[in-house]
This record gives sequence, C-alpha cells and structure tokens, in this order.
Amino acid sequence: HLEKYFPRVPLGFFPSPIHKLHRLSKELGVNIWAKRDDVSSGLAYGGNKVRKLEWLAADAIRKGCDTLVSIGGVQSNHTRQVTAVAASLGLQSYTVQETWAEWKDPIYDKVGNILLTKLMGGNLIMDGYGYSTSIKKSWENAMEAVRRKGGIPYAIPAGASDHPLGGLGYANFADEIAMQEKKMNHFFDTIVTATCTGSTQAGMIVGFAHQKKNRRIIGIDTADNKEMTQKAVSKICHNTVKTIKDHGGVVIPFSEEMIEINENYSYPAYGIPNEETIKNIQWVATLEAMLTDPVYEGKSISGLISMCRSGEIPKNATVLYVHLGGTPAVNAYYKAFETPSY
Ligand code: PLP
Repeated sequence: HLEKYFPRVPLGFFPSPIHKLHRLSKELGVNIWAKRDDVSSGLAYGGNKVRKLEWLAADAIRKGCDTLVSIGGVQSNHTRQVTAVAASLGLQSYTVQETWAEWKDPIYDKVGNILLTKLMGGNLIMDGYGYSTSIKKSWENAMEAVRRKGGIPYAIPAGASDHPLGGLGYANFADEIAMQEKKMNHFFDTIVTATCTGSTQAGMIVGFAHQKKNRRIIGIDTADNKEMTQKAVSKICHNTVKTIKDHGGVVIPFSEEMIEINENYSYPAYGIPNEETIKNIQWVATLEAMLTDPVYEGKSISGLISMCRSGEIPKNATVLYVHLGGTPAVNAYYKAFETPSY
C-alpha cells in the first residue's frame, strides 16, 4: 500500500488478470498460472514499465518537469512506454535508442516498438551502442538538449530501474498478488519473471519479503550477463527498502539470499534468441495463444518450461508466470519465425 507514502498517477488497468495456463500445465505436469501485465494498460500495448512509471511520472509532475528523457535499445519496450506515458499526460519525451542487440535486419529499426514510439510523437535519438545499466553520456546529452530548448527534463534510466522510485511499482505488485490470492483462495509458492535492468524482480523481492511468506521468486536473466543483473537487482532491492523506510514506511526484512537468478536461457546474447527461445515461443503460442517475444518473455517462458521438465521447479509447485509484455517486438524478429520449429 505504497500510495500512503508516495504520489502515484494511475496509468494501468490494475489489478491485471491472473488465469490458468491449462494446456501448458497439462503438458508439463505442473500447475501454472499467468499474471498478465502485458494486458494491464491502454497505453500503446503497455507492459511492465507502466507499473513503474506510475510512481516516476507522479514525481516528474510534482517537480514541475515537462519532458521525460530516457534510454533503451532500438526495440526497447521501455522507451515505447515512456513515450506513451508522456503522450497521455501531455508531456514531451526524448528517448535515446541505442544498438543493444546485434539483430541484422534492414527493418529492425523501423517496425515494432520504434514504429509505435514514432507514432506517439516521441523524439528519437538514434545513438550509442551496447547494453549496460550504467549511466550513458548520450542520455545526459539528451537531457542537456532539452534544457537548452527551455524544457525541464525528468531523467528516467534504462528500464526505469536505477532510480530511487524504480522498485516501487513491483513492490506494490506484491500487494496486488496477495489480494488476488485471497480472492482466489490460492497461494503461488513460485513466481517466474524475466529480469534485465532489475527493478521488476527487485520490486517483487522487496514486496514479497514484506509478506513474510515462503515464496520462491525466480528471475530468468535476459541480459546474458548474470553478474550485472545480480548487481542491479541487489542495488535496487537495497534502494527500495531504504526509499520506503525514508518515506515513513516499514523496514522490510530483505536479505541477499532472496535473489535467485537463472542465467541458462539468455544465451547467446541480449536481444538474440536461441533455438529453444524460438521453439518455446511458437509452442506456447499454439498451446495457449499467449504471445511472448524473443528478447524477454520468450527467454523467461523457456526457463519456466525447462525448469518444470528438469524438476528444478517440482511437480507440486503452484507457479505464477509473470508476463511483462514485449510482444510488439515480434514484428522486428519476423525472420526467426519463418520456419515453424515445434
Ligand atoms: N520483460 C519485458 C517485456 C521488458 O520490456 C523488460 C524490460 O527490460 C523486462 C522483461 C525486464 O524487466 P527489468 O528491466 O525491470 O528487469
């Protein structure tokens, strides 16, 4: 119930739905449900950033900023959602779109997320190279450009993650799950989520730690750099605990052992699917009509499937797969799906 301590602009359709993946559960012999944050917003296909940006946008407005400035890859879902939030609130947006993925296709920078970002009037800056959670010069330059034009920029880091308020959205998500569990008379002992810039998993860890129930939160790394992801998640967990405490909230009992990250499904690189990613995206689409993308959810669904098959997620688990969005990127990856592989 973080609204007691922080301002929040409602941007999403929450609570997002939870439903059982009946056919996938039957195939894998494990009870699997999906939490659909991919359908939780009316803002340009939404996704996990909407939940985070409810808190950052409120802060931007409170501080009198008129332009959201952020950074991501060429097919970034995040910069598309920042642009959507800015458009819906009557703000400007500048987004630095870097080459994070070595996906060679002449339409990669023309369709999917980047097309939607353009459609919403976003100011795109095509500059920079390589995925990293560190602060980039190009992002600072974009902020300076806004200032020079007389605007007041609000800085949103990659994934809205490394920001004092970045973990709030998914910390509050834990309350939403608890409320839905109560209604459903159900307990999800295992949560599976994609993880990259870290505030989705970190927020969940902190939010669920507050509930003091025995729950496993498995982050499937999509950055293909477990060390960087682990560091990011840990930092955001600590920051979120501190931010909540500093604003008058409770002290949440977080410890490092709560962070579980599985790096086995992100290869060969950020933004590049492997054969299993593609096979599983197609399999789940044919089984459940649930669409996942080659950058994030295709990798997390692969992790879920493989861990159920290997017994790393046991047969008696009650699993909640958190779908964080990202489907608009499938257009840019059409080549990967030319031959059905299931
Ligand atoms: N899933 C999708 C669709 C995303 O766009 C992102 C963003 O990076 C993630 C998962 C990972 O979330 P986070 O960056 O908060 O770790």
